[in-house]
Amino acid sequence: MQIPAAFFTDYHVHTSISPCAREEMTLERIIERAERRGYRAIGISDHAYPETCERILGLRREVEALDTGLEVYLGCEVDVLHDGSLSVGADLLAELDYVLAAPTHSLQMFDPDGADEDARREQIERWFALSECCCDHPVLDAIAHPLRGLGGGLEAEPLLNGLEEGRVGRLLDKLRAAGLALELTDSMENYRSACEGIRRFYGAAERRGFLFCPGSDAHGLDRLGHQWHAVWLYRDLGLHGTRMWRPGGERPR
Ligand SMILES: [Zn+2]
Ligand SMILES: [Zn+2]
Repeated sequence: MQIPAAFFTDYHVHTSISPCAREEMTLERIIERAERRGYRAIGISDHAYPETCERILGLRREVEALDTGLEVYLGCEVDVLHDGSLSVGADLLAELDYVLAAPTHSLQMFDPDGADEDARREQIERWFALSECCCDHPVLDAIAHPLRGLGGGLEAEPLLNGLEEGRVGRLLDKLRAAGLALELTDSMENYRSACEGIRRFYGAAERRGFLFCPGSDAHGLDRLGHQWHAVWLYRDLGLHGTRMWRPGGERPR
């Protein structure tokens, strides 16, 4: 199966600065692996917390010192917190090449025994609210794994399939008006990208003219470029290269 050229880029890669990434994720080894795979561009996107921010910004010198034909961008993945604020101030984020927003990090994990209808409804409400908050921060470029974590560790497919279409449409209209891109990713845990709810969400985004951002969310070298579901979705949506987001590119209006 031939991989579309758009997937020789990966804008969601964690180095060992992220507490959840493996030690092997040094900038040098990431670049070496990406070069060997014939990549064109890589974006480093560590979790931006107050305690990691300085090290992320410190990567700039390392990136500039690299001897590579790859385009290398320095970005980050910032949490959207419960109150809608970001885990790091916009002034620091503005120093990076791009910023991925992660509203779904603040979704709750379900207690398998207590995940009743009310808890699920609440989760959906939270997802809508957190996603919408991304519009309030002009420093954000794209939403990382927009549908991840809805299941709170349990089966997510019924929740995804049950998302109300009109409401999703209104949310997408706002995100689109704010110039945000959406990540196409394999970081989807316990559900298949073929699930109806995911296809509907991305299909509605495609019709609204969104740009899509390829990202593997690699926390280990073996996950770099792991984008099989994303490639599947890309084909399913009939996308082409011009619909793919890149750092520093023009925002669609
Ligand atoms: Zn994430
Ligand atoms: Zn990530």
